Amino acid sequence: MDHGPWTMDHGPWTMDHGPWTTSHVPRTTLHGLPSIISVLSRVMRSSIALLLVAASACASSGTPTMRATGSAPVAARQLPNDVRWFRTSAEYRAIARQTYLLASDRLPELSRGLAPQSWAVILDADETILDNSEYEVRRSTVDSGYTDASWNQWVNERAATPIPGAVDFMRRVHELGGRVVIVTNRAAPLCGATRENLRGIGVTADLVLCEPGSQSDKNPRFQSVQHGTAAPGLPPLTVVAWVGDNILDFPGLSQESRNDPNVLSQFGRRFFILPNPMYGSWQTR
Ligand SMILES: [Mg+2]
Repeated sequence: MDHGPWTMDHGPWTMDHGPWTTSHVPRTTLHGLPSIISVLSRVMRSSIALLLVAASACASSGTPTMRATGSAPVAARQLPNDVRWFRTSAEYRAIARQTYLLASDRLPELSRGLAPQSWAVILDADETILDNSEYEVRRSTVDSGYTDASWNQWVNERAATPIPGAVDFMRRVHELGGRVVIVTNRAAPLCGATRENLRGIGVTADLVLCEPGSQSDKNPRFQSVQHGTAAPGLPPLTVVAWVGDNILDFPGLSQESRNDPNVLSQFGRRFFILPNPMYGSWQTR
């Protein structure tokens, strides 16, 4: 299952996400076009250009991504601004990499003096490790928002792609002797598909804790990791850092934390947050 059709290396789901992004098909099919045409005669130029346009059109209309979604592509400019920014902006990708690089650079100090395998980093999954913006695109085309049925279908596709910087960060945790624990509010019945999706993008997690029943509060699961009760055979772990896209991904925090400078000062030190303009607990305010 690690190398199914949804993986980065072997399947139709590419880093560029889909045919509506600026970096998709034209980049690979038309690179070098001006330099080639410049050496051809005017007559040949017209003929060659027509052939290339036709070839490009065929490539676009037959992309695996389009077959996989079973729906017409959505132009980036037709997307809601939040989804469009998340999927297509340079700024989002830069921020994600910046956050993970900062977290990675902090690891040696945070884990100093701790025995190998005695410490861990806890990460959220959705929009922290897994990019589900394709799901948001699909929902935006039908204007019906989130539904359990559509979400379950999406998760079972195991098609979420990696957030920039996430996989390298978790690899670094392991290199330094730490453990990777993922605490997600994906429902327990979806945990198998979630683990397979994670493996498919190159994530090796020591433990994935999904939502038990309807207990969305992550704090009990954080504590179970620290107390050694999270899973059989897993000892108490010193959690040195948390990574998430929602304030509720951090121990003891909530939207009320926005006015607490002592809490906020932990960000960039042992808490590392990614932007998510598409959804989150901020919507409740
Ligand atoms: Mg999340």
